[in-house]
Amino acid sequence: MYTGTTKNLAVIGYPIAHSLSPVIQNTALTGAGLDYAYIAVSVVPEELPAAVAGLRAMNFRGWNVTIPHKSAIIPLLDEIEPAAAALGAVNTVINDGGKLIGANTDVTGFIEPLKARLGETALRGKNAVILGAGGAARAVIWALLSAGIKAITIAVRNPKKAEPLAGEFRSLDKEHFSGGTLIAAVDWTGEDYLKALDHCHLLINATPLGMAPNVEVSPAVDWQRLRPEAFCYDIIYTPAVTGFLSQAVRHGHPALNGEEMLVGQARAALEKWTGCSGDKEAMLKALRNALKK
Ligand code: NAP
Repeated sequence: MYTGTTKNLAVIGYPIAHSLSPVIQNTALTGAGLDYAYIAVSVVPEELPAAVAGLRAMNFRGWNVTIPHKSAIIPLLDEIEPAAAALGAVNTVINDGGKLIGANTDVTGFIEPLKARLGETALRGKNAVILGAGGAARAVIWALLSAGIKAITIAVRNPKKAEPLAGEFRSLDKEHFSGGTLIAAVDWTGEDYLKALDHCHLLINATPLGMAPNVEVSPAVDWQRLRPEAFCYDIIYTPAVTGFLSQAVRHGHPALNGEEMLVGQARAALEKWTGCSGDKEAMLKALRNALKK
């Protein structure tokens, strides 16, 4: 029951009707008995400054930010946490008594399920291959650098486009982490990609290839070259088993989809707003039920 004391949370984006965040967050809030309500708000790009001013004026405790506002919102905030600043993307805003702080919880959402499976320090000194070089890949690269990975190969269809990203993260590695990680962009039809698969401990699909409704396509992977113990992580969550993941499982690799990343970024945001991260299993169940509809 919402009352006069209920505190407000939201997700803003355009379009927003597809967002699963209200289902996930309200499940957590209700389960934890927290007096908050979480709503989805459609905000067209030209109204973003007015919307942010309005949310601040109405004393919303915080909100998630999705496409197309993740970068555009940065100049409208008072403070940006280091990961969000480095990535140039905010997915969570915390309203700290009128001071708006931007954060990026995709990083935590991505890395926590991996650490839960492989161990807190298991990525140190390991080699990762990331397929794709878009917004999600940026959060993945930051997370892997923070976990002490030794080498990152970014495999894409257009390496000329991805090389500036590799260069940017070589600089960010020097500025924020060890500075010793090898980061390269390669053509996923070339020999350098195959060599990277030979030494790969962690293979991540950060492209939309295989996402519904285009479930019949998959990123290019030579499964004969991939080390048998390599962990395969597809950050897509619809369908739950993509072509990439079903191939990975068929070849005997440990595998994970993007459901826990989605719930993980939501839990990290909730923790920032309320101090409580919510019941992970209940949130996953709510997500899976919503995806069935
Ligand atoms: P994005 O910014 O559009 O980047 C997509 C990347 O994939 C780019 O490198 C792009 O290459 C490549 N790509 C796209 N279509 C391709 C195709 N047909 N063939 C080859 N490469 C292609 O997308 P994003 O925001 O990074 O999201 C990527 C995926 O991650 C989406 O499926 C999204 O749903 C998922 N995701 C999941 C979570 C989660 O919480 N689980 C969070 C964020 C994103 P070009 O630059 O050459 O186009």
